[in-house]
Amino acid sequence: MTPTLLRVALPVPLPGLFDYLPPEGETAADCRPGARVLVPFGKGERIGVIVALHRDPGVAAERLKPVHRVLDTAPLLDSSHLDFLQWVAGYYHHWPGEVVCSALPLRLRKRPDVLPVAVAGVALAVGPTEALAQIPKRAARQRELIEALAEAGEGRLSRQWLLEQSPGCSGTLRRLAEKGLIAPCELEPESTRYAPRAPAYALNAEQAVAVSELSSTLGGFAPFLLQGVTGSGKTEVYLQLVEQVLARGESAMVLVPEISLTPQLRRRFVERLGGEVALLHSGLNDSERERTWQRVRLGLVRVVLGTRSTVLYPVDRLGLVIVDEEHDASFKQQEGFRYSARDLAVVRARRAGCPVVLGSATPSFETLHNVASGRYRHLRLNQRAGGASPPDIRLLDVRDQPLRSGISDPLMKALRDTLAAGEQAMVFLNRRGFAPVLACYDCGWVSDCPRCDARQTVHRAAGLLWCHHCGLQRPIPHRCPECGSANLHPLGQGTERIEQVLTEAFPGVPLIRVDRDATARKGSLQGLLDQVHASEAALLVGTQMLAKGHHFPRVTLVGVLDADGGLFSADYRAPERMAQLMLQVAGRAGRGERPGRVLIQTRYPDHPLLQTLVKAGYDAFAAAAMAERQEAHWPPFSHQALLRAQATRQERPTAFLQALTEALAPLPAGVELWGPVPAPMARRQGRYRAHLLVQAERREPLHALLDRLMAVAPELPEARGVRWSLDVDPVDTL
Ligand code: ADP
Ligand code: ZN
Ligand code: ZN
Repeated sequence: MTPTLLRVALPVPLPGLFDYLPPEGETAADCRPGARVLVPFGKGERIGVIVALHRDPGVAAERLKPVHRVLDTAPLLDSSHLDFLQWVAGYYHHWPGEVVCSALPLRLRKRPDVLPVAVAGVALAVGPTEALAQIPKRAARQRELIEALAEAGEGRLSRQWLLEQSPGCSGTLRRLAEKGLIAPCELEPESTRYAPRAPAYALNAEQAVAVSELSSTLGGFAPFLLQGVTGSGKTEVYLQLVEQVLARGESAMVLVPEISLTPQLRRRFVERLGGEVALLHSGLNDSERERTWQRVRLGLVRVVLGTRSTVLYPVDRLGLVIVDEEHDASFKQQEGFRYSARDLAVVRARRAGCPVVLGSATPSFETLHNVASGRYRHLRLNQRAGGASPPDIRLLDVRDQPLRSGISDPLMKALRDTLAAGEQAMVFLNRRGFAPVLACYDCGWVSDCPRCDARQTVHRAAGLLWCHHCGLQRPIPHRCPECGSANLHPLGQGTERIEQVLTEAFPGVPLIRVDRDATARKGSLQGLLDQVHASEAALLVGTQMLAKGHHFPRVTLVGVLDADGGLFSADYRAPERMAQLMLQVAGRAGRGERPGRVLIQTRYPDHPLLQTLVKAGYDAFAAAAMAERQEAHWPPFSHQALLRAQATRQERPTAFLQALTEALAPLPAGVELWGPVPAPMARRQGRYRAHLLVQAERREPLHALLDRLMAVAPELPEARGVRWSLDVDPVDTL
């Protein structure tokens, strides 16, 4: 049967796909799935993607509109990728149009034109002899450029390449163009050639096992956990594997957490692989992102290093997927289309028929569970590759210690000794700002956020009270808004206060604060890091940004100020996160020749999980904490979906969720609904919030119920005025 209709994915928050007729004068068979189309939608036009051609006798064709224009002559997404995206939409129960369109860079979603993949080049406009005759003898740089062009094939070179070879030659190029001797041109895109260099050392035994196990699976699906302590040489294993993938003419996708040193990692990849490595992260502008996306899609570059969204992008001949720091929370999108890039990496590899490596020093419990149940293979690197010894981790009992702005005397002394020895120290506190709350000592007023069930944090340098949940800011008051007293005090501490305390305690020692505020203020993180690397004694103060991926060989002491929050949180994942963060911070110490020491301040030195972590390490900790989860039937021993509802009227979210609960009864066997309950932060940004948790031992009945839920919920009268969203495999319950 010849198709007559186009099924189009549109980036709109609506269920389903949309049928259109082919453009006037064309037949549906002329259109290709995976190409973009410009279609009439509502009062305007939208860009969408054809996902299928079909013939649907159920629809009256005269009610359908033709697409205005097909935008791409060749499809941007192939049929297997379109299948993958639709599977993803089904799994997350998210609007398929938005999911399909999220595989395109923003520019292609918004603009009907496409950047050429061609490279901007420079060409000789006249013969080389004639050109040289017109250049004065002393203009050496102009002559050199003409000679370089004359030697290049067809008298053309990439502009980018020229600028890299002789930085500052843009002026010379301009002068030559003014004389009419050269002109801009477009070069055919070239695929990158790789010339891998051998590492400067031999792999150790554990690395060699990992590389050989992994490489024996190339060409077929195989999921692995590569568990290696920080500095154990995981990256080297990745590099050798990528090298083999390149030799097979395939591409490798490397996913990294959001706050990590992607430029640094990329440099290491480029140096070892001897070729281009595409970088996709949130800092790119739209056209850079589109150009990179196109090059990866077309296989012009075969190694792509990117954050979360990269997992949705098309890659030519995918042969390997790596997820570095797989436990990192930033792999889960926390709003809108709430997918897990780590989980999708595994799905993607299965569909592509290639291995996937989940790397971490502190694997997520989900991944450990997959190892225990035999689904993933387990590779371990237990030794630090460079021979550095592991850090010595101790608990500092601060129950009876006077704290100076959160820092105990023994920690202060350890800092002093470290600095006196010409070494560096790091103080870690996962709270930015000066203090978490401003309080009036006369009447008890505290800096509550007027829109949230939360406090506004004191940001002293900026002079602001700032809510970290809704972003609301106001100037720090000089007098109590309630009683007018000037007896206002910041309580508790954030990184900004620690910075101040340590600056006073150690005048003259370079101190660098790394957190979201500090890096926004001072420009790039890289500049700060260069300062540290150039110093002897130095202090680093920061939030989890400090813990991720950085390499500070001179740091020999790490102080952790707030380990306790993770032990008593309402969130069952808090201990897992606490342990991962602790060990990650610990991994920053002693990576050079000198051993490192970690001091963890706590008021609960006898807490069994904390004791296990410090004395027996992460594996023992994970076993104990996972046993607790199994007991309680929490993930990874069950599957969950969280329905979040919010409204400006207080009673509505709960009423909606209650009505939904009743509409879904009776529940299929093995599925439970918990709630509705008020969200842990019951009011945020002026909206009241409630949750309904869906939990099941097995995925199938859970997803069957979610299908029904998605059909029933929008039809409920109680849904009016309520914003709701479904989070499949939620990682936080806020
Ligand atoms: P990870 O990714 O596990 O943190 P890296 O791959 O960054 O570890 O390795 C840590 C350091 O050890 C790097 O400086 C790396 O060059 C070095 N290294 C890796 N493998 C070896 C080896 N087999 N012999 C010596 N040094 C190594
Ligand atoms: Zn007051
Ligand atoms: Zn707020």
